[in-house]
Amino acid sequence: MAKIKTIGVLTSGGDAPGMNAALRAVTRAAIYNGMRVKAIYRGYKGLVLDEIEEFQTQNVSNIIHHGGTIIKTARCKEFTTPEGRQLAYDTLRKHKIDALVVLGGDGTFTGAKCFAEEFDVPIVGVPCTIDNDLCGTDYTIGYDTALNTVIDAVDKIRDTASSHERLFFVEVMGRDAGFLALNAALASGAEAAVIPEVSIKDDLLSEVIQSGFRKTKNSSIVLVAESEVTGGAQTVANRVKSEHPEYDVRVVVLGHIQRGGSPSAADRILASRLGAAAITALVEDQRNVMVGVQNDEIVYVPFAKAIKDDKPLDMELVRTLRALSI
Ligand code: ATP
Repeated sequence: MAKIKTIGVLTSGGDAPGMNAALRAVTRAAIYNGMRVKAIYRGYKGLVLDEIEEFQTQNVSNIIHHGGTIIKTARCKEFTTPEGRQLAYDTLRKHKIDALVVLGGDGTFTGAKCFAEEFDVPIVGVPCTIDNDLCGTDYTIGYDTALNTVIDAVDKIRDTASSHERLFFVEVMGRDAGFLALNAALASGAEAAVIPEVSIKDDLLSEVIQSGFRKTKNSSIVLVAESEVTGGAQTVANRVKSEHPEYDVRVVVLGHIQRGGSPSAADRILASRLGAAAITALVEDQRNVMVGVQNDEIVYVPFAKAIKDDKPLDMELVRTLRALSI
């Protein structure tokens, strides 16, 4: 393959804490390897609409500790059409961009895979999503920070829950994956997690509430993953309220605070490693792969595998949560 002289980099889809740290790593590692860097604003939208700026090392100074993304992110409908992707390719040609590094989640890599099948452009993905739902990587950038944000919020909710002897259902993000809800439940000492991977009939929710709330505790917290399968915290709360009208039930939807904030140490380190690894991947002639981490080693995962819908959840965590919530 011809030597890559210029890369384009973009952040796409939902933002995640650590995207800036990853952008910094990609930019610096590329320049370190003799490449030019063109930052593409607003994800694929910036490719379609030609919103591009050349970055030097100083463009990414003092951003490692900031949440969000300085080059913005967006959802881009045009890119899901062949006409939109042709416009994106024309922009790449115009700016002499030889390869792309895309920072995002499932949808971003689906788009990248599609683009790579139509045009001869090497693409490397860096997994940035608070949902941790990409296959082939143990962790995604943003997940650890979001987990800490949820725990912090649940600690505060616990104070008021125990003062008023209430039962709280706290909804967390996850896009149909229960990693955030389950691990946050474990780390915050919640009574249960309602997650899409485990059937609601089997989650022993009633049993937990009966044995915990009624007999031994004066308050309870249940984390609910947002998902069509769980129906969200309000749906679960309604069900419990109708079965147990005697309980003082409250619902909290944590929402977008989970996406914000300064990235944790773990996320900054992961972002730095994976951002640099994306450039190594291009230097090594890898194309159309996501860089990930497995057992603390950097791995290259084909897009098709990364976006598969079946990242396994560790059932041992489910059993541990049940055992510890008595
Ligand atoms: P998160 O998981 O945090 O929401 P994401 O990367 O999954 O992030 P999406 O909004 O699903 O976010 O996808 C980002 C962008 O990728 C979309 O706005 C669209 O431009 C592009 N994309 C998604 N799916 C496709 C597809 N099937 N074909 C082409 N492009 C796509």
